[in-house]
This record gives sequence, C-alpha cells and structure tokens, in this order.
Amino acid sequence: MNTIREPARDVPLVHEADLCVVGGSCTGVFAAVRAARLGLSVAVIEKQNCFGGMATAGAVNVWHSLHDTSGERRIIGGLTREVIERLKKRDAVIVPGGPGGSFRLNTEELKIELDELVQEHEVRPFLHTFYAAPVVENGALDAVIVENKNRRQAIRARQFVDATGDGDLALDLGLPSHEQDSLQPPTTCAKIYGLGTLGDFDWPAAVREHGPEFGLDPDWGWGGDIPGLPDIQLRADTHVFNIDGSDADQLTRAEIEGRRRVRAVMDLIRRYGPPEGTIALADLAAALGVRETRRIAALYRLTGDDVLYGRRYSDAIANGSYRVDIHHSDGPGITFRYLDGTERVIRGRGLSAETRRWREPLPQDPTFYQIPFRSLVPGLVPNLVLAGRMLDADKTAFSAVRVMVNTNQTGEAAGVAAALAVRNGQCIQEIETKLLRRTLAEGGSVML
Ligand SMILES: Cc1cc2nc3c(=O)[nH]c(=O)nc-3n(C[C@H](O)[C@H](O)[C@H](O)COP(=O)(O)OP(=O)(O)OC[C@H]3O[C@@H](n4cnc5c(N)ncnc54)[C@H](O)[C@@H]3O)c2cc1C
Repeated sequence: MNTIREPARDVPLVHEADLCVVGGSCTGVFAAVRAARLGLSVAVIEKQNCFGGMATAGAVNVWHSLHDTSGERRIIGGLTREVIERLKKRDAVIVPGGPGGSFRLNTEELKIELDELVQEHEVRPFLHTFYAAPVVENGALDAVIVENKNRRQAIRARQFVDATGDGDLALDLGLPSHEQDSLQPPTTCAKIYGLGTLGDFDWPAAVREHGPEFGLDPDWGWGGDIPGLPDIQLRADTHVFNIDGSDADQLTRAEIEGRRRVRAVMDLIRRYGPPEGTIALADLAAALGVRETRRIAALYRLTGDDVLYGRRYSDAIANGSYRVDIHHSDGPGITFRYLDGTERVIRGRGLSAETRRWREPLPQDPTFYQIPFRSLVPGLVPNLVLAGRMLDADKTAFSAVRVMVNTNQTGEAAGVAAALAVRNGQCIQEIETKLLRRTLAEGGSVML
C-alpha cells in the first residue's frame, strides 16, 4: 500500500481524569458511573451523538432476563436493574413474558436516561468524538488522541477502559487478538409502522418465498414491540453476510446494503401483502448492528464448556443465563444452544427448525454461568481493562455472553476495577479480586 507521512505535531491536552473510558455504550457509561461513584474523576469518549451503543444507535431494544433459567433466582442487578427502574417511571419498559422475562425498552428514552446518569455523576462527556490513537509512556498508557470538531486533541488519565466493542484501543496497543474463522453477520435494525394492518398475511413466509426477486436471502429474523408505540415494531429481519465490521470499507458496504435490505422487505410486503396494509418506515438505526468482530487475548479465555456447564469462578464479576445464540455466518440460519443440553437449529431455504440434544441431561443442569475478571484483563498494559464484546471468549462462549445484560456487567466490573487500581496505586492485574467482588456487591451487583 502507498503511504504518505503525516507531519508530527503537538496536540492540545484538553482534559485530565483518573479514568478515561473509550466507547460510550451502556458498557462504557456503566464503567464510568461505577468508577465515579467510588470517587474517580472520569471522562467518556463516544463517536456517536448519543450514549448507548447498540442499544441506542443500533436500536436493539431487548435486555434479556435478570434471572437464572429457572426464573426464580435473580442473578443480575447493578446499573442494568437501576436503569430499568428509571425507565419504568417513564413507561419506557415492557416485560412481554411477565416477571422474570426479558425487557423491551424505548431506546430513545434510554438515550436521555444515559445522558442524565452521566451528568448526575459529573462524568465529562465527549460525544461526536472518535478515539484515534494511544500515547504510551514507560510501558503504560498515558493518554489517548481523539478527533472531533475541535480537531485532534489529547485526553490523559491514570486508568483506561476499552469499551469500543471492536477493541480499537487494545489493537493499537499491539495486544494480540484471536483470529476468527467466521463472524456472525451484521443487521440493520429498523422501526416499521403498520405491520398490524397486514392482518393474517404471513410476511416472513412471503420474504422466504419471494425474497430473491428483491435481492433478499430467505432470512431468519426477529422483532417486537416498543413501549408506548403500539403501531410500530422494532425489526431485525435481514443479515449482510460475509462482512467484517471492523474493516472500514466492508462496514461502509454493509451499512448501505443493510438499509437497502430493509427497503426491499417493505417493497416485497407492499407487492404481496393485502391492499389494505399500510406500512411505513419510522426509523432506521443510526449504526449498522455489528454482532462480532475481534476479541482480545486476556489472562483467561472463557470457553463454551465453561458457559454451558455453568463453571463457577472465584473472580466472577458477572452472571448470565442467556443461551448460546449463533447467527450463521455463511447464510440464513441460527443455532441456539441451551444450558439444559438441548439445541435448536434453524436453517435452509425453508428455515426449518430442528430441536435435538447436544449433550445428555446432567444430574443437575446449570441455571446460569459466570464471567471471570481475568477475561477482561489483557495483562500486557498495566492500566487497561477491557469491557464489552471484545472480552476473551471462544466462539461458543462469546455467543452467549455477548448480550447486553452481560456486557453491562463487564462495564461495571471494569469501572470498579479501575477505581480500586487508582485508590491503591495498583496495576489492573494486581487488584484483589475478593475486594473487587465485594465492592461490586456493595454497589448493587449480584455476586454469586
Ligand atoms: C442486530 C443485533 C441484534 C442484537 N440483539 C440483541 C438483543 O436482542 N439483546 C441483547 O442484549 N444483545 C443483542 N445484541 C448484542 C449486543 O447488542 C452487543 O453484543 C452489545 O451491545 C455489545 O456491547 P459493547 O458495549 O461491547 O459494544 P457496542 O454496543 O457496539 O458499543 C461500543 C461503543 O463504542 C463506540 N466506539 C467504537 N469505536 C469507537 C471509537 N474509535 N471512538 C469512539 N467511540 C467508539 C461505539 O459508537 C459504541 O457506542 C445484538 C447485536 C446486534 C448487532
């Protein structure tokens, strides 16, 4: 590749904090808030115009159950629960399956709630701000270079959390990432008005049958209600296959193709649906929904067996019960694998479903799994902790832990870990994990 040399230059140091969180999804904001509650000055950098990541810019409005698979034991608390309670006061949450089930959020309200959380905790927000490069001094991260309307500038901190989803900061620091032989495909989410006017018309079946006329695969998708908007559904019906969302050119192609696919589904419904049907596009996600890119090597790699056999850890910082959920990378279809030893595979042109066992039942099947702190600690940089979907997990484990009720907990753990590191003048890997768990529990997290 041809190159040109960018001249060296001084950039203004615009902010100094105890902790700088790079990436402002709920993962990043929850890291910032937990650290601020323990007395740290915190900055959070987000490239979009709002906080929330996939939950807001990506429009993904489902937070899964806070309970174990029996539905009887609550295994998740912390800021996920606090934010749900705050959204309830604005009628911005519904629980379609009843108590113990998953939550559907009004993600526009979530944007404002996250703004308020950031402001209440005096976290310094940097929106419309793109993390660009690290500055390393004596083997530790000293600052990050960011770009925004005020051009290139530096933010210095004592501790850093990489919550960029893709692990951009970790990658720039030269930390090893795991090669992925396949990536779950991305989806453009859309809010569609008027699907209720289609009556009994089975439009997903029509998409399977007539999709090729509109350049669509016979895809598997999902969708559902949005609190307070009875005539609008959030839909995630199509995938863009064979895309690496951490590559700028592929990301650009996939954004455009994802939006085209939403329009194609609507055109198909208009052609084959009942004449009285009135549908309209209410909103397109501001950002393509990227499910999987790189994962960073940390002190421990969580495995599928760890998750599916419910392995417990003395340094556990998160609990989850969401199933393994793998969107097939090479074409339409999905595999769900459950903690009770069953699995459900949906694939092929007709998207036929098959339910079978992947293992025999255990004397006592696990009802939840855990994420150890070690899977967030890359080790090679003393003042960096990972949070979110870049955590160290193999393909199967990742496909369960990737959901937001889990990634939110990794953010909270990263923020508390950074606070302990600052308070005790320690490297992230020196933190006493008993104290980490105790501090997390004192702040409302469920530690089992
Ligand atoms: C289509 C789709 C449907 C899904 N469905 C569900 C579901 O129903 N329920 C569920 O719980 N999970 C679901 N998931 C998974 C879940 O949304 C993600 O795994 C989770 O949000 C990952 O969290 P994260 O914080 O690691 O990443 P993200 O939410 O992607 O957050 C990363 C943040 O960092 C910012 N950022 C990235 N790079 C930079 C940079 N260089 N500078 C500044 N900021 C940067 C981004 O803008 C973003 O805000 C779905 C995912 C997709 C794509």
